[in-house]
Amino acid sequence: MNEMLVSMINDQIEHEFFSAYLYLSMAAYFEARSLSGFAHWMRLQADEEREHAMKFFDFLVDRGAHVDLHAISQPPSEWDTVLDVFEHAYQHEQKVSSLIHTLYEKAVQEKDYPTQVMLHWFIEEQVEEEKSVSEIVDMLRMAEDHRGALLQVNHRVGKRASD
Ligand code: MG
Repeated sequence: MNEMLVSMINDQIEHEFFSAYLYLSMAAYFEARSLSGFAHWMRLQADEEREHAMKFFDFLVDRGAHVDLHAISQPPSEWDTVLDVFEHAYQHEQKVSSLIHTLYEKAVQEKDYPTQVMLHWFIEEQVEEEKSVSEIVDMLRMAEDHRGALLQVNHRVGKRASD
């Protein structure tokens, strides 16, 4: 495999583990405020991010490429409002999508077809990730400062099933 591409996939493993860490920190924020629905959603999100990291990890292993695990940065732990948390999550997913697109461009440039095929799954997954977070952002914007409406959204997202 192309060395630069391997290095970029190793960076992506770090980004996915950081995502897991970020969402776990958001889960802790919600747990501390007894918003167990949002906390549940963030815990499942964190689990998914770890699975994403492991997909990249396994791909490098399968291709006989070197896995180089990096240090994971400390995520933030404080936000002003529930809406701020989900807006942050939405911006984060947009950033991850752009990183995956850059990775894809490199795989095309290097004519690395297996990497392109592997990335198709991630490109589709990011569309889903952005959609699900932006739906919650929209619901929270509608709820504005109404405590009752916020608790309804908390209840609703708490029904998210692990997939
Ligand atoms: Mg991810």
